[in-house]
Amino acid sequence: MTDIIRLLPDHVANQIAAGEVVQRPASVVKELLENSVDAGATEITLVLKEAGRNLVQVTDNGRGMGHTDARTCFERHATSKIGAAEDLLHITTKGFRGEALASIAAVAQVDLRSRSANAELGTRVVVEGSRTRIHEAVVTPVGTSIAVKGLFFNIPARRQFLKSDAVELKHALEEFQRVALAHPEIGFHVVSGTSDVVRTGPENERQRIVHLFGRKYDERLVPVEEATEQLSVHGFIGKPEFAKRSRGEQYFFVNRRFIRSPYLDHAVRNAYDELIARDNYPSWFLFLEVDPASIDINIHPTKTEIKFKDERSIYAIVHAAVRRALGRFNIAPSLDFEPEPALLAPVGPSSAGAVPWRPQDIGTRQVPTGWQMLFDTDRTSGPDVGAIEPTRTKVLPSRDLSVDPGPRPVFQLHGKYIVSQLPTGFVVIDRRRASERIAYEHALKALELGRGPSQTQLFPRNVELNATDHALLVGMLPELRSMGLEIAEFGGRTVSVSGLPAEVASTDPEALLHDLLEQLQQERAALKNERHAALARSMARSIAGRDDGHLEATRMHDLIDRLFACEMPYYTPGGKPTLITFGLDELHQRFERG
Ligand code: ADP
Ligand code: MG
Repeated sequence: MTDIIRLLPDHVANQIAAGEVVQRPASVVKELLENSVDAGATEITLVLKEAGRNLVQVTDNGRGMGHTDARTCFERHATSKIGAAEDLLHITTKGFRGEALASIAAVAQVDLRSRSANAELGTRVVVEGSRTRIHEAVVTPVGTSIAVKGLFFNIPARRQFLKSDAVELKHALEEFQRVALAHPEIGFHVVSGTSDVVRTGPENERQRIVHLFGRKYDERLVPVEEATEQLSVHGFIGKPEFAKRSRGEQYFFVNRRFIRSPYLDHAVRNAYDELIARDNYPSWFLFLEVDPASIDINIHPTKTEIKFKDERSIYAIVHAAVRRALGRFNIAPSLDFEPEPALLAPVGPSSAGAVPWRPQDIGTRQVPTGWQMLFDTDRTSGPDVGAIEPTRTKVLPSRDLSVDPGPRPVFQLHGKYIVSQLPTGFVVIDRRRASERIAYEHALKALELGRGPSQTQLFPRNVELNATDHALLVGMLPELRSMGLEIAEFGGRTVSVSGLPAEVASTDPEALLHDLLEQLQQERAALKNERHAALARSMARSIAGRDDGHLEATRMHDLIDRLFACEMPYYTPGGKPTLITFGLDELHQRFERG
């Protein structure tokens, strides 16, 4: 038999592949906007005619392209963003497949003009159905302008499949919104037909949300901020009372890329627990930042799905961050506890402002909230979180607890751990990590309020610093003061410490300061983006474990209670577990085996 396999000509292959990338005008909008972002643009204009059917034009002031690149960018697998397979592990750009322009040019007429800053003349390239018609030098501003006309002009069947202008425009603007939310630092101008749809300068995330979704959003948003070494989450969630019947604004961005994730949706939804009706949806705008090496964004051609290496802890952290935000703003007063308000009234919410329970209160007040959380872990810790293994701890009805609150036995192991009995096992708490979590939330709260208690020292202490430390410190004196550290400039590189955070009032101020500076140096990068969290984290680390000595039972109880008054008792701010629970069944099993 004669051989019958042929290689498809490029333009046919491109057209087939285009089906994956370009489904409708909105796909073109997304790809062009993302390219402009990747090109470092600070201003982007999007023009749509007939919902993008006849024109999608994106103009940016980014780095532009050289004469050859302006043509090469239309080749399949032409990309400047990765060069080797390893690069796939560190993707920080939106694009990397080098497919978008080739695909778009296969099914439309594309007119590109581009100039890089160091070139006097720019380049114009016109490509129609993968065929280059024009490649010439032109006068054009620095940056790139790409006009995509007559989408699917050569595939009538697909053109017919497009929906009404209203529907296509909605899709196109949704793509725009995702990019605009992810990049509030970029100014956008969007024109549809003859009307201005959006015109913004650079702004912050909150302003951007309000700009895109309306003034009313301003009062509806609750800030979220949580940072661990593995993941930082920040952004906004909607107050429960504004939850809607229809799926509204629900945005997850991972490293500034919009993603869909039913799994994370669940983490957020679940955090609202009983706060909203089952068929209502809260809104959220959450930005996750993770190490690019810990995700795989390569599993979907349009890249809205990604895979996390450690999905379960991401779930737990997102869940806890949202709960904490709801709790902190007192939106969820009885979130973590039994819904019987009479039982809980004197104890207060799970926020750090809760009145701590003390052993001497036995008999006069109800069961401490913290303990109860441990008995009820499967409602509070999200899914099976590695170290915690909440499923092993059976839920004990809290009514029983309130009848017999008796003092729970606690004891110390090697000065490092606190052990206590649970109904179906026991818990081991890492003392230092627990104090770190407590100090972190305390500091964060103080920073948010702009003030915190400090214990004034009788004798201010002068400390001389090296130049780097001194510069670092001076830049954050007001914030340190909020966290209870009273420091003033004394002249030269000397500062005077006149007050310490109450938790460590009797510590050596100089040692504390040096520890803190070391932590701050380590958090330098984070200080730029999530300043409060990074400051609080540094403070917490330098405070934690300063009194390593023996703990009286009362102080152990106190520590546990303060831990469970935290919004996120189970992890240190660095994402390490603060406690581990053991089930009796686990013990039985081990004895049986022996
Ligand atoms: P990818 O974005 O995956 O690299 P594209 O087909 O979207 O693939 O773009 C191909 C290349 O063209 C990019 O890698 C980039 O070098 C260049 N390019 C595309 N759009 C722009 C732009 N607006 N400004 C500067 N360069 C661009
Ligand atoms: Mg691209």
